[in-house]
Amino acid sequence: MPLWRLRGRAVGDKRQTADRRPAPVSKLPDVGTTVFTVMSRRARELGALNLGQGFPDYDIDPRITELVAAAMSAGHNQYAPMEGLMSLRERIAEKLFRSYGRKVNPESEITVTLGATEAIYSAIQAVVGAGDEVIAFDPAYDSYEPAVRLAGARCIRLPLSPPSFAYDWSRVRDALTERTRLVLINSPHNPACTTITAEDLDQLAAAIRGRPILVLSDEVYEHVVYDGHKHASVLLHPELAERSFAVFSFGKTLHATGLRVGYAVAPAPLTTELRKVHQFNTFSIAHPLQHAIAAYLAEKPDIGDGLAGFFQAKRDRVRAALAGSSFALPPARGTYFQLLDFGQLAPPGDLAFAERLLTEAGVATIPLSPFYENPPPLTVLRLCICKRDDTLDRAAERLRSFAEQLAHRR
Ligand code: GLN
Repeated sequence: MPLWRLRGRAVGDKRQTADRRPAPVSKLPDVGTTVFTVMSRRARELGALNLGQGFPDYDIDPRITELVAAAMSAGHNQYAPMEGLMSLRERIAEKLFRSYGRKVNPESEITVTLGATEAIYSAIQAVVGAGDEVIAFDPAYDSYEPAVRLAGARCIRLPLSPPSFAYDWSRVRDALTERTRLVLINSPHNPACTTITAEDLDQLAAAIRGRPILVLSDEVYEHVVYDGHKHASVLLHPELAERSFAVFSFGKTLHATGLRVGYAVAPAPLTTELRKVHQFNTFSIAHPLQHAIAAYLAEKPDIGDGLAGFFQAKRDRVRAALAGSSFALPPARGTYFQLLDFGQLAPPGDLAFAERLLTEAGVATIPLSPFYENPPPLTVLRLCICKRDDTLDRAAERLRSFAEQLAHRR
């Protein structure tokens, strides 16, 4: 049994019985350390190749390093403005206009946050309260539901069923109640690697029209949409944009997840509410990093343009390396992940299979169960492809030979 603690199941935590100090009343009793953190830790301990947690293992652009050093040398080492550095927000507004043709006011509609995770958390705390309901879709990124529950609200989870992970909008319409405050969407989708369509956005807009329901759209992989398709942002949908928080991440766009700089875009009244939470949550984001990113965007306003091609080559490399093996590779339309289906090799049970890949094949992956309220029997794992080509080649080789060994034993 893997050691991480999953929703509703505390595994391997012996301290609770040995420790006689009064236990705090947990607000999230069924939540353990995230699967990403645990998998990265175990990959390090075991010396496995880490295709689990989503972060690059190659160097960032040295120009970013220079600009951060320059910003610190120039003395930008005290608090940044709570809302975010104005020059950065201006560059963000230009970037959004370039991508989506939408004029966003940097003064009143953009807030720089501590990664997308803070943007999501602060937006939820800002607009959701006790007794409210929030709709999320399973598999859902793991931070959504805890943020909703900490706001005192209930997360209603609707299925996106494999293999297509398509939205069932009639189910969404049926799930809306007087208490629904927010619908949480994510495209490109982590972990399903799917993308939402303009028709999906129309369906969502129609479903919530005339109701006091907002949208939180997690678009951190906005630039990683494959095969020539374009990202369907809520910012391209005038009706939804009026009632949405759209959340973005420089960690993904600059290949530097350690920066922890993201931003939330929302109409002024929503931004005002988000900032009320943000100022007491993280208050303001690393000042020198904001200067550096603003300067970098000024030098490279087209920074997002090459990302899809860059990651598509990695996706295709992994797919080619595993073609003809007993693993199936469902289509990946976006994100820097690729699903791996082991259904021909072993019975459903993604936690057990991820554990075998980690300990027997030396490859860390991410099982999908932790993204579900009630996981169905699953035969898919998530591979992270934003890695050096040689890391991907070595991991694919290990996966391939593990599959061959299993096939022989059967
Ligand atoms: N977003 C990253 C992923 O999906 C995880 C970030 C984290 O560990 N919280 O892998």
